Amino acid sequence: MTAARVPFLSLQPGEDADATDAAIRRVIDRGRFILGPEVEGFEQDFATVSGLAHAVGVGNGTDALCLLLQGLGIGRGDEVITPSLSAGFTAVAVIMSGATPVFADINPDRLTLDPSAVQAVISSRTAALLPVHLYGQPADMPAITQLAARHNLAVIEDCCQAPLATCQGRPIGTFGHGGAFSFYPTKNLGAVGDGGAVCTNDAALADRIRRLRNGGLSTPSFHEFAGMNSRLDEIQAAVLRARLPFLSRWTERRRSLAARYREQLPGAGVVVPAEIDPGNVYHLFPIRSEERERLREHLQASGIETMIHYPMPLPHQPAFTDQKPAESPIADTVCREVMSLPLHPALTEAAASQVISAVRAFTG
Ligand SMILES: *Cc1c(COP(=O)(O)O)cnc(C)c1O
Repeated sequence: MTAARVPFLSLQPGEDADATDAAIRRVIDRGRFILGPEVEGFEQDFATVSGLAHAVGVGNGTDALCLLLQGLGIGRGDEVITPSLSAGFTAVAVIMSGATPVFADINPDRLTLDPSAVQAVISSRTAALLPVHLYGQPADMPAITQLAARHNLAVIEDCCQAPLATCQGRPIGTFGHGGAFSFYPTKNLGAVGDGGAVCTNDAALADRIRRLRNGGLSTPSFHEFAGMNSRLDEIQAAVLRARLPFLSRWTERRRSLAARYREQLPGAGVVVPAEIDPGNVYHLFPIRSEERERLREHLQASGIETMIHYPMPLPHQPAFTDQKPAESPIADTVCREVMSLPLHPALTEAAASQVISAVRAFTG
């Protein structure tokens, strides 16, 4: 029997197909495409499921991070401490705001911002800490918020990979001033294009960001400040509203597949992430191997597609090398060893078994 192909991810329509189609049709028939009832409705629904008071729909997750910083008055001359391991867009957002990213190393088990590494790079210019809930794993928020309080720093959370995640039972995005979410198609809640949201419990901040995302307009023709143009559009908002009711089921599916991987992969010669907090929403399932390239080739030959998140620590990226350099030995090692196995709600038990057998066959 030849093994079936296991793609890394599938974005074909699933159980949400009819609801998604109907949502798109509804917007086109209504003939209103920017800042209308779908965005308002989605903002309310998303705030509710996220456990935050306010959500503001914006163009993408990068803008959401930048708008949070700008909304807090953070920009030129300020430093923002962020992990050496993340999607590069986290650091891009800091630079877009006018501030300077300062990188700190990650915790080797959690793979998120290490509070003691943060402590070492705090300076008189530090304005904010920007932890990332990477791979769906909540960062160590109690330690990070304690540190921020001691040094009087803002905290904004990069929640782009972690909608519905909790840290010690408390929703992410609620620990500091707010959280930035992405609805890029491959994310846990994906649109049919770009989309993002800022969530916060601070009504004044939400209000400011609502104006900032729309050119700084406070009334239809009064630009209070320049702001930017970063509006979630009605079609994306309608699709996201249609898909949102499935998100908790999809998240449970991710958790159950992750539990199987965690149970059946140890002993196969790879480092499998421990479950540090049950609030992990498993956007990705990163394993580590000193023989990553050979393991990937072996899996590829068995029909299994894998990806690397991420091959290069941010301080080594050409775009950021002139930012404050940081020694990040843990991120350096992780970037050499880490690879992501297929894990998404539509992955079948048979496909998961195939992944497990193939990984075990490599070393076992
Ligand atoms: C996807 C992502 C972003 C950027 O979101 P976009 O919607 O693509 O702009 C930022 N940070 C992290 C951790 C992400 O995964």
